[in-house]
Amino acid sequence: MQNTLLQTPIDYLKGVGPGRAEVLRKELGIQTYQDLINLFPNRYIDRTQFYKVSELQPTNAEVQIVGQITGFKEIAQKRGKRLVATFRDETGYVELVWFRGHKWIREHLKTHTDYVIFGKINLFNGTFSMPHPDIELKTDYDKSLSKAIQPIYPSTEKLANRGISNRVICKIMEQLFLQLNGRFEESLSTEILEHQKLISKSEAFLNVHFPKTQNLLSLSQFRLKFEELFYIQLQLILKNIIHKTKIKGYRFETVGSYFNTFYKEHLPFELTNAQKRVLKEIRIDMDSNAQMNRLLQGDVGSGKTIVALMSMLIAIDNDFQATLMAPTEILSFQHYNGLKPFCDLIGVKIGLLTGSSKTAARRIIHEQLESGELQIIIGTHALLEDKVKFKNLGLAIIDEQHRFGVAQRSKLWKKNVSPPHILVMTATPIPRTLAMSVYGDLDISVIDELPAGRKPIKTVHRFDSNRLKVLGFIRDEIAKGRQIYIVYPLINESETLDFKDLMDGYEGIVRDFPTPKYQVSIVHGQMKPADKEFEMQRFVKGETQIMVATTVIEVGVNVPNASVMIIESAERFGLSQLHQLRGRVGRGSEQSYCILMTGSKLGDNSKTRMKTMVNSSDGFEIAEVDLRLRGPGDMMGTQQSGILELKIANIVKDKDILSLARHWAKKVLVSDPKLIDPKHQPIAQTYIKMGKYKNIWNYIS
Ligand code: ADP
Ligand code: MG
Repeated sequence: MQNTLLQTPIDYLKGVGPGRAEVLRKELGIQTYQDLINLFPNRYIDRTQFYKVSELQPTNAEVQIVGQITGFKEIAQKRGKRLVATFRDETGYVELVWFRGHKWIREHLKTHTDYVIFGKINLFNGTFSMPHPDIELKTDYDKSLSKAIQPIYPSTEKLANRGISNRVICKIMEQLFLQLNGRFEESLSTEILEHQKLISKSEAFLNVHFPKTQNLLSLSQFRLKFEELFYIQLQLILKNIIHKTKIKGYRFETVGSYFNTFYKEHLPFELTNAQKRVLKEIRIDMDSNAQMNRLLQGDVGSGKTIVALMSMLIAIDNDFQATLMAPTEILSFQHYNGLKPFCDLIGVKIGLLTGSSKTAARRIIHEQLESGELQIIIGTHALLEDKVKFKNLGLAIIDEQHRFGVAQRSKLWKKNVSPPHILVMTATPIPRTLAMSVYGDLDISVIDELPAGRKPIKTVHRFDSNRLKVLGFIRDEIAKGRQIYIVYPLINESETLDFKDLMDGYEGIVRDFPTPKYQVSIVHGQMKPADKEFEMQRFVKGETQIMVATTVIEVGVNVPNASVMIIESAERFGLSQLHQLRGRVGRGSEQSYCILMTGSKLGDNSKTRMKTMVNSSDGFEIAEVDLRLRGPGDMMGTQQSGILELKIANIVKDKDILSLARHWAKKVLVSDPKLIDPKHQPIAQTYIKMGKYKNIWNYIS
């Protein structure tokens, strides 16, 4: 019954009415009673705290003071007047300022009487002032205990202008609780509640909106955050379970001669323990009845490619074909050129298909894929075209997944009777908490170890004023036979100003490093693919010493002899991008360097980014900082941000609660995947409602 009551349009709530309802809908998305209950305060003000005037700091955002008004004055200003009152306690005075309502104030506020004032404090000309304070007689204040801890709800300028102040929201919230009797159906099982000592749902809602004590408030927040994260995890894990039971995969039971010959005779190095562990995880997946759906995370240079090759060899050992898809032509070429020699050694037929493959060559590849003659195909999006058909695609590997959308991934599925096993590889480390929230439905493998003997890249931060020294350093490195990258920010390839910077930079470099002694390449997004490839190849072959480029080289390119990465206007790049760019060097045996060039005036956020890069080379550590600086939505892009729109929890700050919630979601589903055990009934019911109202929070009743 209450369930339907909660769906009542907000217009019907006493104190709201059509006018305010309209504003609430537009500004806060509140349509129903339920939405209002789920409007959680952003923060709270503890009105049990008092300040003395002498304790005020310029940073005190909002303060509460007890004192008396000792006098009023009116001060003329450009338009109208402002009314100023001197408000004293025994330690000093502040000025209270009003720009409106002077008459009422003069008539109602008394001098030399104890008042409690509350509001934002400003420091102006050495005096603290409080514009339009909340002001209340001390005797009245003492009578009302209810406002000890005051919730501050999300607001907008429009809300404020239309008279829906925080106080008004508190009032209508109170009204709503009265109407609902403050009773809410429990949505967690007794087992969880007792084990985690969580407070009931009704208590939690009451105290999150009308906190009685700090302790009850934090218990309420914990309970509601847990619940929010629990149901997200439940959904994700359930999706994973359904996937595994519903979607049959090909079983690769043998690890045969292709794999073994390669492993025993041609693997040029010992695998790292992390590579071995990940390969085992992949092998187990492909040898189960279910289709593999796995994300492989590994920092730049951690050796994902060899893992990809060996996984593909298992597919081939089982008479299936395999494909490795990369987001750019350059990367596809590189993978192809890197893997072809190995394939030749063990007699595996490998091909390459990209947008610039010629029609005749393309036709042959299409035929060979359909007949099964080609065992491995490397390529770009061109592989997704309908014309591309396989005899039996068993494994699809997608490199650098953030460039491919989910829709594109699913296109690969349609190329077979059963979907192939899918392995998505990414060099962008994603913090664990974020991975759990966004990719919780995928299985995740992590290569968290670099091959032995890598020299850490030396990273420094230099100001533009030190450019001459940097140029000297470049000259020295080139003299030693090394190659140099210089990267410009051209994040949006069509921005003309950035393009001009790039070209100016290029011309400057050509002047400083003239032919014939030096050769300089340039690569950017506005070039034709063939020209790009040509320039890239010149650099790869060592014909040019300097590569001036935009972020097109961000992903994957492998030139072991390049040992210096110079990033221009480094403050304009995000941390993960800086880390990716830095990963282009340090691939050979020589000491490598990364130089971050910036102007001398940097904001705090930029300074933190530069410092993090200089101090850390651990992609996961850098990703954690990135998450803190940018927030989850920004970090993952809009594509996945839906799931990150949390109402009360915060995956950065509440990662412990997230782990706990995931633990419980797993525990519940492992013992009872269909949620039919009576003890899980509250969870099952809530889950069903969630589906009905299409929102994690639209299920309470
Ligand atoms: P990424 O994970 O960035 O794709 P790559 O697969 O390109 O990394 O590997 C980077 C380099 O490290 C390659 O030259 C590769 O041959 C080499 N490599 C990979 N695994 C090992 C290993 N276990 N020991 C030594 N070198 C390795
Ligand atoms: Mg790679």
